[in-house]
Amino acid sequence: MKNYILGHWVDSLGKETVDVINPATEAVIAKCPLGTEEDVNRAVQAAAETFKTWRKVPAIDRVQHLFKLKTLLEEHFDELVQLCTQEHGKTIAESKGDVRRGIQMVETACGIPTLMMGQSFEDIAAGIDCQAIRQPMGVFAAITPFNFPAMVPFWFWPFAVAAGNTFILKPSERVPLSQIKIFELIEKAGFPPGVMNLVLGGKTVVNALCSHPEVKGVSFVGSTPVAKHVYQLASSHGKRVQALGGAKNFMVVLPDATIDTTVKTCLESIVGCAGQRCLAGSVILAVGKAHDEVRDQIVRAASDMIVGDGADPRTQMGPIISKASVERIKGLIQSAVEEGAQVLLDGREWTGKGFFLKPTVIAGIKPHMRIAKEEVFGPVVCLAEVKSLNEAIAWINSSSFANTASLFTGSGAAARQFSYEAAPAMLGLNIGVPAPMSFFSFGGAKDSFFGDVKAHGSASMMFYTDTKVTISRWNKNSNIW
Ligand code: NAD
Repeated sequence: MKNYILGHWVDSLGKETVDVINPATEAVIAKCPLGTEEDVNRAVQAAAETFKTWRKVPAIDRVQHLFKLKTLLEEHFDELVQLCTQEHGKTIAESKGDVRRGIQMVETACGIPTLMMGQSFEDIAAGIDCQAIRQPMGVFAAITPFNFPAMVPFWFWPFAVAAGNTFILKPSERVPLSQIKIFELIEKAGFPPGVMNLVLGGKTVVNALCSHPEVKGVSFVGSTPVAKHVYQLASSHGKRVQALGGAKNFMVVLPDATIDTTVKTCLESIVGCAGQRCLAGSVILAVGKAHDEVRDQIVRAASDMIVGDGADPRTQMGPIISKASVERIKGLIQSAVEEGAQVLLDGREWTGKGFFLKPTVIAGIKPHMRIAKEEVFGPVVCLAEVKSLNEAIAWINSSSFANTASLFTGSGAAARQFSYEAAPAMLGLNIGVPAPMSFFSFGGAKDSFFGDVKAHGSASMMFYTDTKVTISRWNKNSNIW
């Protein structure tokens, strides 16, 4: 695998590699090079040089490359889906969602002439007018996680590049294959060399991007400790940073919810992508008499799920990304048992190949338990009984994370209270995975997000451009017209 710098596929200067493993089969399917600081220097130099000409290309011409890319992505849709499933393990249907959501970002960024438009106002004082324009800033970078190999990079670069910036992407070293394919399509779409650059690697590349003086801003998605590190390092070097971190997502079920559909929705949220979504539900807070019905139905539904290789069309839930992650999740389940929770469905037994964990249901969860506080990132349903909506909201707001939360109810008044009081920044009302579309902003609060300006949609323009205000007065001092 090579880096893509200034329109060329070039060898990484790094000598070390990381195995890219299909988690369903344990087969090593590629080796990802771990790039060096010098790889980053070369990419930044290319992007900085290209910025001088790219920013002068009119926006309507810049987006023609995105229109071409959209067509190419559609033509190669199935191939990208297969790659996502191979490197990540998720089911074909989930990979389709991964690629489709990515393409939607490209579609939205095609509207940059409207998104990037500024403001103007005449006669701010007598005879004086004011205009505020948005200007691109230079080189931006994104560092992305393993769990949405195709989609997450698209949250950032189409908006940045359409706005006239140049870009460097460092995808997760665990799932680089779909991005290699996407960069081949980027090349075919005819972006001028140096507009889009790819540097493969791990933390050396991350740290070099966060400290290089020519990088104007960094977009990050990953776990909270790394998000904090990236936020601190890049902002201490004077950069704009948006760092999206981990999550602990709660789902509140009131007794007036439609329990059948609620259980299906909650289970899909918790075990979809084997629980490896930043918007995955984790703890169900069932209020009063909703508890027993939810418990009985969710155990039945979870035990019926077909677990296996995501490439098999019958599979409903694929593997976990690595053996280490399986062990970490098993450790969390064990900690819950030791702290007094009851395992109603135990998915820890797996004898075949692959890094699998079947859906697991644990009841009797209390706020002090480790599993109630830490991100599980696996297919574990945690169930707790609470007395009221107030108690549920207080529990949610005591969490250090605040990515998303959902409420299931038929009551508008309860829904309003929840929207008003719950701390997470992405809420679902009878929705299990409240993922904002490409034309809305995306990002959590508290330890789930470090920065000010969130990802994609119109928020991306605040991140990827700087505003410049010009105030003008033109005195009529000549009589020639
Ligand atoms: P991760 O933090 O391990 O890795 C993310 C990126 O950081 C990768 O590109 C990796 O190479 C780099 N990295 C890892 N360790 C580093 C270090 N010590 N120093 C510098 N860089 C480092 O995350 P992951 O396991 O790939 O992804 C899962 C996490 O991402 C979960 O916590 C999940 O909640 C989170 N996530 C959040 C969102 C969101 O929108 N908030 C979306 C997707 C995933």
